[in-house]
Amino acid sequence: MSRYDVIVIGGGHAGCEAAAAAARFGAKTALITHDITRIGEMSCNPAIGGLGKGHIVREIDALDGLMGRAIDRAGIQFRLLNRSKGPAVRGPRAQADRKLYRQAMQTLLSEQQNLSLIPASVEDVRLDVKGGRVTGLSGVILGDGRHLAAGNVVLTTGTFLRGMIHIGSETLPAGRVGDPPAVGLSYTLKRIGFRLGRLKTGTPARLDGRTIDWAATTEQKGDHPPEPFSTLTAHITVPQISCYVTETTAATHEVIRANLDQAPIYSGQIQSSGPRYCPSIEDKVVRFADKSRHQIFLEPEGLDDPTIYPNGISTSLPKSVQQQFIASIPGLEKAVILRPGYAIEYDFVDPTELTASLQTKRVPGLFLAGQINGTTGYEEAAGQGLIAGLGAAMRASGCPDQPGLSRSEAYIGVMIDDLITRGVTEPYRMFTSRAEYRLRLRADNADQRLTDIGLTFGIVGTERRRAWQDKKQQLLHWQQRIASLTETPGKLAAAGLKISQDGTRRSIPDLLGYPDIKWDQLRGIWPELADVPGDIQLQLEISGKYRGYLDRQEADIRALRRDDHIKLPSTLPYEDISGLSNESVALLKERRPASIGEASRIPGITPAALTIIIGYVNRRSEVGYRKSDFDRVT
Ligand code: FAD
Repeated sequence: MSRYDVIVIGGGHAGCEAAAAAARFGAKTALITHDITRIGEMSCNPAIGGLGKGHIVREIDALDGLMGRAIDRAGIQFRLLNRSKGPAVRGPRAQADRKLYRQAMQTLLSEQQNLSLIPASVEDVRLDVKGGRVTGLSGVILGDGRHLAAGNVVLTTGTFLRGMIHIGSETLPAGRVGDPPAVGLSYTLKRIGFRLGRLKTGTPARLDGRTIDWAATTEQKGDHPPEPFSTLTAHITVPQISCYVTETTAATHEVIRANLDQAPIYSGQIQSSGPRYCPSIEDKVVRFADKSRHQIFLEPEGLDDPTIYPNGISTSLPKSVQQQFIASIPGLEKAVILRPGYAIEYDFVDPTELTASLQTKRVPGLFLAGQINGTTGYEEAAGQGLIAGLGAAMRASGCPDQPGLSRSEAYIGVMIDDLITRGVTEPYRMFTSRAEYRLRLRADNADQRLTDIGLTFGIVGTERRRAWQDKKQQLLHWQQRIASLTETPGKLAAAGLKISQDGTRRSIPDLLGYPDIKWDQLRGIWPELADVPGDIQLQLEISGKYRGYLDRQEADIRALRRDDHIKLPSTLPYEDISGLSNESVALLKERRPASIGEASRIPGITPAALTIIIGYVNRRSEVGYRKSDFDRVT
């Protein structure tokens, strides 16, 4: 029987990052997925990044993950969203050539040492049971009866757990169109006692671009030059294209309203929740009844592929109704549907069953990542995959620690903390508004926040280590240099800057703090600023402009860390802590938070309850714990 340190089940976005992270750490890893040629498949829209999501891609890249490099080899239109707004909420996004993205991901994985790609269906996991209790696992059982051994398994089955497709009244068991569902694994999870729920998502019809009247739509160009996602990509070399915009009409809404009884979400056929921020067109027409039109982005799926993804009209109405409402949209009057839109319902595991490294509390060695945890989106899945794969590899190596990123370090940390402390009632997607330290967690500084952490975890390769050390040196050099360059108010005024004539010399960081002073004006005064590389200049400008806010945020983070990181042992007898309400005890016993920070974010746990727990922890010796039981979570 083949034996691995880590087995990853699923070759979607979570599975790819999980397998690559485990292998980078040095674990002997197998990635098992139904079909190797579909590794890296984008089940829905052909795009990576966006608001909040682009931040996650940059963080994955900073930890030497694959998604940023893959999209740089496959992106056919790059845009920085919210360019005119503050740096915290700018989100890089790229339209992808679907085929090139799959190829890029498959190439990156095939180049990864310690990693085997195995085409198979996993039917079950092999559990270790002692005294009637599940104590761990020892491997997986494949559809053809083969057994593979591993003590650490990462499950990343996406929308496949008891997946069921809906198109009008038709239903079809599937993981996504053209793929079988995973049924056995779902029953195993239920048998073990995991709390499972059901969610749904949907996708629009795909159109034949050769039948679209492009003249009736509005062109949307990408950025020139396109800005790569990965710090390891010097330039984008893939040819760039435009996308196009059209919108629904009153006639579209009329067709949809007249056929609502055939929509599975309104006929009662689908009962589970879908992504609130990415509703189907029938949902939009009902929920925003006062709106007479909705935008549709016509996004090409590839350079040599006529397929168009009409972003904004996902639907599960019958195909004949889809045809009818699409024909009422300017430019799409004669559009041919290549594949109808559909909705899919699937099982997910309540993520409060997980720890911060995405290991399940119920089965040591079993990790879950991606859509299976109630999230939606490629980037969310990939960010979780990286942490789960690393956790599995660290555990396999006998390392006593598990990885974890805090809310003040990364969007990935925000997401995982939200999932494990609050759970989900609808598919979870990332937004910049979910992060309390947005100004610190920017897409442009992910490497400064995370690459050193990645090096400590042991998942950053030589190429990125060298590139990062070079950049760090440059950054430090220019930070010191510009702080040392000062000028008198008289000279600054002579150069056209509006500065109070108070006799105080001002440095470049001081001047950048003025809202109306721009870098280019400073170049006129200090010509050597022309030598500052573009990425370093951006960092210097942002830290100068937002210095006050950033300093305040750092102070908040330091204050938060004082109590937040106090560890809570999993054996803490909450029922014996006097003063805690029965509701708090029940919640804390169910969730078993790993730290005061995690406890504070469980809905229903009050500041008063936290004070009582901290008091108990401070009296630890009286209640039989050692100091090390409460050591801080780092
Ligand atoms: P997936 O990408 O689904 O990958 C799962 C992988 O696991 C597949 O490779 C599969 O072959 C493999 N697998 C499953 N079971 C087994 C098994 N038993 N044995 C071996 N291999 C197995 N996201 C959005 O952000 N917005 C949207 O509008 C949106 N719409 C969607 C519409 C549809 C119809 C679908 C299907 C998905 C949609 N998504 C959307 C979700 C997006 O596709 C997922 O969030 C993302 O792909 C999740 O990544 P993942 O790695 O968790 O799973």
